[in-house]
Amino acid sequence: MRAAEIIEAIHKKAKGLGNIAIMEVCGTHTNELHRHAIPQALPDNIRLVSGPGCPVCVTAQSDIHAALSIAGMKDTVLCCYGDMLRVPCGDTSLLGMKSDGADVRSVVSALEALEIARENPLKQVVFFAVGFETTTPHTAVLIEDAARENVGNLSVLCSHKTMPAAVTALLSGKSGIDALMCPGHVACITGRKGFDFVPEKLKIPAAIAGFEACDMLFALLKICDMLEKSQLECFNAYTRAVSENGNDPALRLTYKIFEESECEWRGLGRITESGLVIRDEYSFFDARRRFEIPDFTEKNARMCICSKILRGEALPSDCPSFASVCTPETPLGACMVSSEGSCAAYYKYER
Ligand code: SF4
Repeated sequence: MRAAEIIEAIHKKAKGLGNIAIMEVCGTHTNELHRHAIPQALPDNIRLVSGPGCPVCVTAQSDIHAALSIAGMKDTVLCCYGDMLRVPCGDTSLLGMKSDGADVRSVVSALEALEIARENPLKQVVFFAVGFETTTPHTAVLIEDAARENVGNLSVLCSHKTMPAAVTALLSGKSGIDALMCPGHVACITGRKGFDFVPEKLKIPAAIAGFEACDMLFALLKICDMLEKSQLECFNAYTRAVSENGNDPALRLTYKIFEESECEWRGLGRITESGLVIRDEYSFFDARRRFEIPDFTEKNARMCICSKILRGEALPSDCPSFASVCTPETPLGACMVSSEGSCAAYYKYER
């Protein structure tokens, strides 16, 4: 079906549904939905709400503070994915520290940190690892390779998160969200079954979506269909990439290196079993055990409502700072930094 035909079908289905709110869990979906102007193409009674799926946005200030502390240590190289560089913490950021002389490097792959460690044997190289099920296997490969090669100057500051516990904690017992659009890249790893918790625990339907306009529209059509028929299931609308059981080697490697643990999320607080920590067998590569990191007290940026946005309780346009003092060039909060952040997507496509 072409996009226009799917949109027409959604309009027909939506007529009998009343007002519904669909949460897109993933930041990539937020960005792509707005890039394709899909919210405007939907009927007025369908509202899209952004969820907590942008990895940079949900990384707690305490973790960014830990990265800043390590970056400030002598003879240390701090490596991270590019978006993390600009997240403000107090009156600085990793980029600010880099400008002040700290050795902070942006990498596109976790394994680049291993190369940097090999090239700089007299320095401690720390990889600041963030992201969900999609990126965790890359960090697991990094640690496994470093262990195999006996690399003594590499460690990982782990801030990896998993989706089920956080989404359950966010939506359990909360009315107002009628269905979820689930991230196709996460489901490539977890399999379709990885999102069965949505109908089973949250008692709302879900559809796994890819990232092309037609992928997202098809998932929205299936959601309308399930709502119309009162069907409770997790539908795989991205079968060209997502299997029923996911990527078994990636999952096995992930849980060989990491184990589930309580985790701090920006905006959501501490959530049981929603994060990953490095197992004792690989503790040598755990930066939290290798370095002494000073305590941190959480302070949110003034006039920033990122927490509410990440909980789906407010839109970026509700924030008094949006597009005035807070812009992608001068971000006050994490949601304006990453291209996957809701505020950045609204700034780019909805103003
Ligand atoms: S617009 Fe800026 S200040 Fe407002 S919530 Fe978003 S990131 Fe925070």
